[in-house]
Amino acid sequence: MSIPQSTSRDDPARTAIKISVIGAGFVGSTIAYTLVMRGIATEIVLVDVNHARAEGEAMDIAHGAPFAKMSSIHAGEYPDTADSDLVIITAGANQRPGETRLDLTRRNAGIMVSVARQVARYSPESVLLVVANPVDAMSYVAQRTTGFPPARVIGSGTVLDSSRFRYLLSRHLDGIDTRNIHGYILGEHGDSEFPAWSLVNVAGMGIDEAAKAFDVDFGQAVRDDIAEQTRRAAYDIIERKGATYYGIGMAAVRIVEAIVRDEQSIMSCSTLLEGAYGLENVYLSVPLVLGEHGVSHVLTPDLTAGEMAALHASAEILREAQDSIEGTWQ
Ligand code: NAD
Repeated sequence: MSIPQSTSRDDPARTAIKISVIGAGFVGSTIAYTLVMRGIATEIVLVDVNHARAEGEAMDIAHGAPFAKMSSIHAGEYPDTADSDLVIITAGANQRPGETRLDLTRRNAGIMVSVARQVARYSPESVLLVVANPVDAMSYVAQRTTGFPPARVIGSGTVLDSSRFRYLLSRHLDGIDTRNIHGYILGEHGDSEFPAWSLVNVAGMGIDEAAKAFDVDFGQAVRDDIAEQTRRAAYDIIERKGATYYGIGMAAVRIVEAIVRDEQSIMSCSTLLEGAYGLENVYLSVPLVLGEHGVSHVLTPDLTAGEMAALHASAEILREAQDSIEGTWQ
């Protein structure tokens, strides 16, 4: 006898979670693997223009089924993604020799439009998690293409950067558990991102008090070094191994978990600001609350004047990127 599973998003007894991952390269397949290991989805569909790659990755992960939590994983085409609860987009092209960042952004925007149209067609009620870079601009393209409410189109944003930041803070604070260190990288997932030092919190202590408690130096030079290491992390990893995928895989799955389990967890994802922080119509990362319908609240903790200026400067850069691809979806 089989027990029927409910798939309606509004049904409190819903147990089946279908997640589609578009782009089965390093990042997409690592996300799929992590989803299986964490037992978050009941069905995972991998889609890639290179169908053989998607098939190979799905087979490789599926063969570990006896050692993971129950879920079915398979490669497919867009019709197979129908009625996904959540769709993760990692499809993107890499920079060609001599290609500018702007040209790459335009090329990736074209890919994003073609993918987002299919998502809107087959999973119109889904929450969309954009991971492909440049993630803020790609989230904007995905939202404009699908016409989904902005709350349902989220960029992984600086969740990974904030986790790198917390890791570096932990190393400087005698290795205390990173889960007990709260702190956020805000703005662009990229060169104009910055740590909001005024929001760092360790057991209710701000950064200066924590520095005293652990008897460590958190002067400007140390802060600048931590900010720089956080900002440079992806470059440093790519220089050594050619790509980054484990950290983003774990970060993306943590975002997915908060959504499918309706956790109302706080993270720094990329979202469309519509007035918060005095900013309009730009995707960037700020602390927000995530649950089953996507973003339920955008939080606006007090920032220092310097942090607010850095956020606006980052928004300016992102708006230029958005302007450069405006209308791609028409
Ligand atoms: P990759 O080249 O290994 O994989 C990309 C995959 O996308 C390839 O398999 C390719 O065939 C597929 N693809 C291309 N066009 C497609 C289309 N139209 N439809 C379906 N699939 C398509 O690259 P990767 O290392 O997996 O990185 C993927 C993206 O994730 C890149 O944009 C990368 O910059 C980004 N990334 C983001 C973060 C983050 O923090 N947001 C971190 C790491 C990587």
